[in-house]
Order: sequence, then structure tokens, then C-alpha cells
Amino acid sequence: MARYRDALCRLCRREGEKIFLKGDRCYTDKCAVERRKYGPGQHGQRRKKLSDYALQLREKQKAKETYGVLEKQFKIYFYMANKKKGVTGSNLLQLLESRLDNVVYRLGIASNRRQARQLVLHGHITLNDRRVNIPSCLVRAGDTVSVKEASRKNVIIEDNIAKIEHRGMPSWVEMDVNTLSGRVLNLPAREDIELPVQEQLIVELYSK
Ligand code: SF4
Repeated sequence: MARYRDALCRLCRREGEKIFLKGDRCYTDKCAVERRKYGPGQHGQRRKKLSDYALQLREKQKAKETYGVLEKQFKIYFYMANKKKGVTGSNLLQLLESRLDNVVYRLGIASNRRQARQLVLHGHITLNDRRVNIPSCLVRAGDTVSVKEASRKNVIIEDNIAKIEHRGMPSWVEMDVNTLSGRVLNLPAREDIELPVQEQLIVELYSK
């Protein structure tokens, strides 16, 4: 599958704000957005007035990059969100949050979504006691997401679990650090999702 392989911090700098792609580093003064508060590349320091279309496009790109989703799959999420009852923008974010790799990240098993994706792909994670290696698998309320028995001594996972308290966790999931097992209490509403994205602009972009 196609994958973005360039420097992740460039994506944040392009958006002009932190989108937290690197885990702990994002909270230190090594963060590239803190150091260079302008866009990447030769013309990054030019001031530009963005058109309405550009604003919509940037919001969509920001959401895509945050969740590590490619264009085709993102469009599929939009169509799924559009078919569901309720506000399309909120449905879209809820679908993105329901991805297994995102839930692994939210539970604190991984320090960022990329790492979570890798842990899922490598078979370290179980969903309702069954091994699942598909990061895009959508979880439901009541589902249990755990670290596989044989992976409990994995140093990356151990390190992340040790930092859980410091990092915090959203209210729609809970984690038992003794059994390394987490539960999805309910799917998040818009107010539960801390994401600096104006989802209405994404809806406008795709509704053209
Ligand atoms: Fe973005 Fe994190 Fe890099 Fe900062 S350190 S620019 S928040 S990925």
C-alpha cells in the first residue's frame, strides 16, 4: 500500500500547527513547529492568503494526516459518514476515531498512531480476544482491545504503558494496566474528540 515516507514534521509545518505525529517528541522543544513557525520548503516563508477551497483542502489534509489515512480510504469514510444518521462531519470524525490503530493509540499502548498501526500489523493486538492485524478495522462500543499474551514483555509496549498516567486518556475508553486490556465504553461524540479540525469544511469540500 502507498505510504507517506517523507519527514512527518513537514506535515505539521505545512498545516502551521501541531498535529502530533511523533508521540513524546511533539511535547518537547524539539518539535519542528516550535522551532520553525513557517511552512516547509523554499517558499514556506511567503505569506499567502488562502482561498475558500484552499482552506477546505487544508482541513481535509490535516484530518487525513492525523489519522494516517490515504485519499481513497478517506473518501470512503466520508461516504460512510454521509450515509449515517446525524451530522456528517461528526460521523466522519467518529469513524476515524473508531479505527483499531487509533484506539490502540488512545488506550496508551502506542505513543502515536503510526506506532499503533505497526503494533496491529505485527499481530501484537487482539480485538475481543481474537488476533486482528488490520489497522483500519472499526471497533464498536463494548469491544475489548488487548495486548496479546506473548507481547506483554515487548519493550515498546512496556515503555508506553509506564507513561499512561502522564499522558492521560479520553473518557470513552478505559485501560487495565495489569491485564493490558482496554475497553471501548462508547464511541466518541464530537466534544470527546480533541482535534483542531473544522470538519464542516471537509464536508463542504466533498459536497461540491
Ligand atoms: Fe508535528 Fe510532532 Fe513533529 Fe512537532 S514533533 S512538528 S507536533 S510531528
